[in-house]
Amino acid sequence: MEEKMQPAVVFDHVSKEYTLYRDNKEQFLALFHHSKNLRKHMALKDVSLTIQKGESVGIIGNNGAGKSTMLKMITGVAFPTSGEVTVNGRVAALLELTAGFSSEMTGRENIYLKGYLLGLTDEYIRSIEDKIIEFAELGDYIDQPVRTYSSGMKMRLGFAVNINTDPEILVVDEALSVGDARFKRKCKDAIGEIIKKGTTVLYVSHSPADVRKICTRAIYLVKGQVVFDGDVEEALTIYEQQNAGKAKAAPKKK
Ligand code: ADP
Repeated sequence: MEEKMQPAVVFDHVSKEYTLYRDNKEQFLALFHHSKNLRKHMALKDVSLTIQKGESVGIIGNNGAGKSTMLKMITGVAFPTSGEVTVNGRVAALLELTAGFSSEMTGRENIYLKGYLLGLTDEYIRSIEDKIIEFAELGDYIDQPVRTYSSGMKMRLGFAVNINTDPEILVVDEALSVGDARFKRKCKDAIGEIIKKGTTVLYVSHSPADVRKICTRAIYLVKGQVVFDGDVEEALTIYEQQNAGKAKAAPKKK
């Protein structure tokens, strides 16, 4: 009972401030001297939201709005400057797909390596190994060192591992393109299947059609702030209106 009531993700007044250094020297000196003159940039500003288990949430917004920063906090790669992020459940991320691969090890060995990094047991990885290899479509290359793979092959393997580990929370950045059109379709279908299973999904996308298809809720970020959180159609309407306005206004100024 209690397990069910726990939300998957909670952002509690989360802000993220990055320091912008002019050059390496300034960054180095900042280790020793506290300087008031450094430029700061707020990537997220006081974001509070709760994502319940089983929700599939689209995160939309222009470049630099803070979408990746949000996802990175859920996967534990970035940390808030203030506020708190709570994540309940095992997270798999379709973000940096080739991160963590060892290039000297074979594709098959890397499946185990990634599996261990995700906290999976030998026995469990063995049970999904064939499924991963089939999904990645690497054929005999699976027993070759990863350094012999093309970047597309590495991405396919990374995607195959993450999507087949039965995560409780799946974090996806659609900007990442995997393979040709047919493989992309297969990836989208796999994400669709995972949603049907009741997995919580956070999906960053620029494609209204995909958000409509995949998500039951959408969060619209502008300059690090949540300006809308709720119905997908409403979110997309506001997003499209604001951006259509900008597109029209821009040429007039020039
Ligand atoms: P989005 O994914 O919506 O394009 P990001 O989360 O990547 O946005 O970035 C939000 C803002 O934070 C941007 O202005 C970006 O330049 C800045 N930013 C992101 N990562 C860093 C970093 N490591 N150092 C400094 N600024 C960063």
